[in-house]
Order: sequence, then C-alpha cells, then structure tokens
Amino acid sequence: MSLDNTDPSTLSRYNSDDIDDIRLSLSFDRLRRFVLKTMKIPIAIVLALLAILTFSSAQQSREVADIVFKNGKIYTVDDTNPTVQAVAVKGDRIIYVGTNSGVQNFVRRTTRVVDLSGKTMLPGLTDSHCHLPGVGFREMTLNLEGVQSLDDFLAKVKMRVNQAKTGEWITGRGWIETFWKPPVFPTRWDLDKVAPNNPVILTRADGHALAANSAALKIAAIDRDTSNPFGGEISKTREGEPNGMLLDAAQGLVRRHVPATSPEEVERAIILGVKRSIKLGWTEIQDAGGTYADVALYQKLYDEGKIRLRVYKAVHGPGPEAEKLLYGGAIVGAYGDRFTVRAIKVVSDGALGSRGAALLAPYVDAPDTSGFLRVKEAELKPMLEMALKNGIQVETHAIGDLANRFVLDAYESAMKAVPPATRKIDEPRWRIEHSQIVNPTDIARFAKLGVIPSMQPSHAIGDLHFAPSRLGMDRLKGAYAWQSFIKTGVVVPGGSDAPVERGEPMIEFYAAVARKDQKGFSGAGWHPEEAVTREQALRMFTIWPAYAGFQEKLRGSIEVGKLADFTVLSADIMKIPEMEILQTRCEMTVIGGEVVHEAGKP
Ligand SMILES: [Zn+2]
Repeated sequence: MSLDNTDPSTLSRYNSDDIDDIRLSLSFDRLRRFVLKTMKIPIAIVLALLAILTFSSAQQSREVADIVFKNGKIYTVDDTNPTVQAVAVKGDRIIYVGTNSGVQNFVRRTTRVVDLSGKTMLPGLTDSHCHLPGVGFREMTLNLEGVQSLDDFLAKVKMRVNQAKTGEWITGRGWIETFWKPPVFPTRWDLDKVAPNNPVILTRADGHALAANSAALKIAAIDRDTSNPFGGEISKTREGEPNGMLLDAAQGLVRRHVPATSPEEVERAIILGVKRSIKLGWTEIQDAGGTYADVALYQKLYDEGKIRLRVYKAVHGPGPEAEKLLYGGAIVGAYGDRFTVRAIKVVSDGALGSRGAALLAPYVDAPDTSGFLRVKEAELKPMLEMALKNGIQVETHAIGDLANRFVLDAYESAMKAVPPATRKIDEPRWRIEHSQIVNPTDIARFAKLGVIPSMQPSHAIGDLHFAPSRLGMDRLKGAYAWQSFIKTGVVVPGGSDAPVERGEPMIEFYAAVARKDQKGFSGAGWHPEEAVTREQALRMFTIWPAYAGFQEKLRGSIEVGKLADFTVLSADIMKIPEMEILQTRCEMTVIGGEVVHEAGKP
C-alpha cells in the first residue's frame, strides 16, 4: 500500500483490513531481524527466506480497490498482456490487470465488484474528431438525419414552419441528398413552396453547404450580382440566378443574419452532446474546433460537476482564437485530466459531397470546378511557425488531394523554418483531419514529416455512393487509404466527425473493418484492401487517439498506472460476424474509475 499520499480523505478510506496488513508487515520485520541475529543458518538460506517473506508481505499489503471488474473478456491493447479477465481500480487509476483470482487480493468490503459476466471490455473509446456542441444542436434544431427523399425533407420543414411564428428563422441540419431519387440538392424554390414567409437555412450533414429559401436570401441581400466570397460559392442556375445552395464560406453571408445562439443554448447543446456520447461508450472526444467562449462554457460545466466526459479541444485559426492559444498558452489535463486545449484547428478546403474539396484536377461530374482552398498561405505561415516555437499542435481539415498537398507543403516549410532545437516540443504531432483523398505519392510524406492522418471510417461508407462519380476510378486509389497509411508507419486515430456523421462508435468500428455501407454494400473499385483488421480498428479508437493527443502514457490501453477509462459492450466485436457489430450496444461507460453510464439506468 502506498502511504505517500498525504490527502487525508484517502488515508481515512483505509479500513481495518489494511491496518491488519500493516501489523502483519511489522511482525515480518521483527522476524527478519530475528533471523539476521541468529546467524547459525547459512547466509544463502537467509536470503532466500527473506525473499519469500518480503514477497508474501507485499502480497498481503496490496492496495484496496474502489472498484473491480471481473469475469470479463477484456482487451487491453497492451501487447505484453493482450486479453485478461479482471481489472482493479483505485481512485481514477488502474492498479491491477490480470486474472479473476488475482483481482481478489484488492477486494475488501468497501470495494464495488462489477461482474462482467463474460461481456467485452475495451480501453475507453475516444472519438478523435467530433463537434460536440454540434451534436447537441442537432438534437435541439430541426434534425434532418436519415431523410430519404425531397418530399420527406419538405414535409419535415413544413411541420416546423407550422409551429413557427411568421418571420421566425427556421434552422436545421443533417440532410444528405445522395440517397434521394434523383440525388439533387434542394433549391430555394422547393423550400419556398413550404416556407413562403419564414427564412429557412438547412445545413447539409457535412456542414459544408446549406440550402436557403428566398426569404433568407432576401434578408442576406444575395442576388444574381453577388459575387462569391473567398473560400465559398453561391451556387447559381445556368441563367445566373442563385438557387439557394451556399457552399462553405458563402454560408456566412446568410448565417450572420440568424439571431445568435445564446450561451445558455450552447451550454445545453454541450450537455446534450456529452450525455449522448457517454451513452454510446465514448470516454473522450476530441472537439475539432471552436472558440474561447466554448472553452469558458466547458470550464463552467466541469466546475459545476455537470459533465464528466474527457474533452481534448481545439480552437479555430488563423485568427484571434488561435492567437490567444499561441500567446496565452495551452490548458493541459485540467479537472483531473479531463480537459485539454492545446491545438489549433484550420480548415483548408470544403467537402466532397458539395464539391468544395480542393482537387488537383477537376471534378469528373462537374468539369468546370476543382473545388477551392479556404485558407491563404500568407496567413497560415506565420501561425504555423509560432505554433512550433510555442509547442502548440495544429490540426488541419483537408479533404481533396490538392488541399492535402497544400497542407503537407505548409507544414514542411514551417518545420524547416523552425528546426527541432528552436521548438518548445521537438515532436509537434501535427495532424491532418480527414486526409481523405490523397495523391498516392503524398501518402509516405505523412510518416516522413511525423504528420498524423486523423480519419473517419464512416465517411468512406457514406461517400462510396457518390465519390466514384465525383472523382472517377483512378483517384479512388489514395482515397480513405487507411491501410496504406498504417503501412508507412503512422498511427491513424479514428473519429466520427459527428454531427457530419451519426457519431456512433459501433458504426465507426464496423466501417473501419468492413469498408461497406450499413447494408453490406461496397461498390466496384472501392479498394477493400484498405479496410483494417479488428486489432487495428481497436487501436484507431483507443491508443492512437491517445497518441494524437499526447496522452499515450495516460490512457488508451488498460495498464497499471493509467487512467481507468473503459467501455463495456454487449458482444465481442473482436470476434463476431461483421454485421453484428452494428447491433452491439454499449453496456457501461467508465471514466476515471467512475461508472458514468450503465445500460438500463437513467
Ligand atoms: Zn469536422
């Protein structure tokens, strides 16, 4: 037992069993002295005896666990000890990993014993790329996930309009037209039919496009003479009339007229997002972007004890938010290793679905465009160099092959300009979020530069329905190329990009190992060899995200000394048939030794 902890509340937790342990060790000490005094016995035997005594005394004086998990099928992601039956936890740390009989040594009457009854336990899962407030807002506004047709879409909007006052803004998110027949974007005129008097803006699931009606366009003064802003596009008919679709930065032209969300609403969204994440089995989410206003809200919610989920947060850059981080310094491991802000999120291009991804060659299904970049090199360069000097991580959204090359080039030139000796951290662990369509010649550059491709398996199984028509078959080589990346020696942290995708760990795990849509379909040329093994998929949501967040010594595997974060599942996703992964449920979520979700309990 370690008595070096001076926290009196910890000391007072030692119960009478421990006192016995102390007495026992004291009596062994007396015995040891006695043996040493009676020097008649040969020294070798004395030493052997001492070794035995010391060993058994250590056995007797083991720490007392607060909670143990036993009878489990526990995958540790520790190569020296890959599967075990039981784990013991004291405070927020793991103190034992091993067998059902071994764990008994840590059980006293104060210990909670969780019988896993053969269920599967994993290191607590991490979503490496998620927009947590967005997940909450999806629940709070018009949720258009899973809408199967334009008629369906309009029916949902009409229902919301009927509940609204005249002139009130209607906002929502989640539609994807690629499954509609025909798969075309909704227009302002479609929306005008159901919403003649209310401004409406409905964001595509990917967040890179929105559909606005005429009332919204009018408020924003967008007409045939409005030119595209940098990094965005006002989609127009052949006759030059805006059709209601606004891509990437062009969304801002209308969004700025929507009444701002109040801090109370953002707070509610964070709480809803946290609740949903914990229920699904996430123990940490890496929140890809945001502001210091969000940071303050997270801090308030941790202070008030309203959220327990671990959050690794980035703020947007280049700009004032990034500058605050660069000059004000990072927040690392606040609230018991729950909250870290040490990364800048940059967005370098748009998305493939809305043809905003920046490509090296034009879109096959829209030869007049190659997408567009959303950040200027002149603004990026000084920020990158300062980030290296000040030990700040950078994570940049890049979907298209041009964007990925642009970011690799920018990272490389900053790293040359600021060599390791002049950096605060030699190994900056910069990331490219999505790394989605990468020219095969650029794949090896990630490993060479130490850049981490942070990828989202569910994008590949959603995009397989339209990526071939956007890109053509040739460019699919190097698209969603998980296995090719892993082979070069990089880690590939996995994420969901919720609310772009649903944000469910079992969908992500399935997508990574199956590389087929949720019905089991995969189109021609979809490179099944890029699917990952189950062991690799497990790493994508445990130790690899930990590494990508400088946390691999703290979490990401089940080892003595690490934080006690676990996800308990209803089935063994390392063994069951692929399709059954999608039916697997989260039974229990444990963060820092605390059970924060149990299936069937509120
Ligand atoms: Zn994202």
